[in-house]
Amino acid sequence: MSDHLDDVAQRQESSWSSIPGAPPPLPADDPAQCLLQDDFYTIPVEGVYDSNCFICTDPEFALMGLPLCRSCPSCESAGRGKGHIPADDCVCTVCEFDEYEGRREV
Ligand SMILES: [Zn+2]
Ligand SMILES: [Zn+2]
Repeated sequence: MSDHLDDVAQRQESSWSSIPGAPPPLPADDPAQCLLQDDFYTIPVEGVYDSNCFICTDPEFALMGLPLCRSCPSCESAGRGKGHIPADDCVCTVCEFDEYEGRREV
């Protein structure tokens, strides 16, 4: 029986570390730990990162399941990479494409 439980624990650990771009878990004594106890977290979009962005640079946003910055369709179609639309905004910080304006045209 205990062998079986060890098995499950190991599988959960490896499924966590196999998620691409997932931030590492916080240390057990971190004050934010209580918010991280559930299985609810957000996976950052690969390639979307702005070192001036407080959401991109703080992995706790992802661990707490908060919305993260999005890729920019205008940057992607122009071959500029993923772009960066902040989670709390709708305008790309790379090309100033307005996500809501873009959607209205479609
Ligand atoms: Zn960001
Ligand atoms: Zn863009």
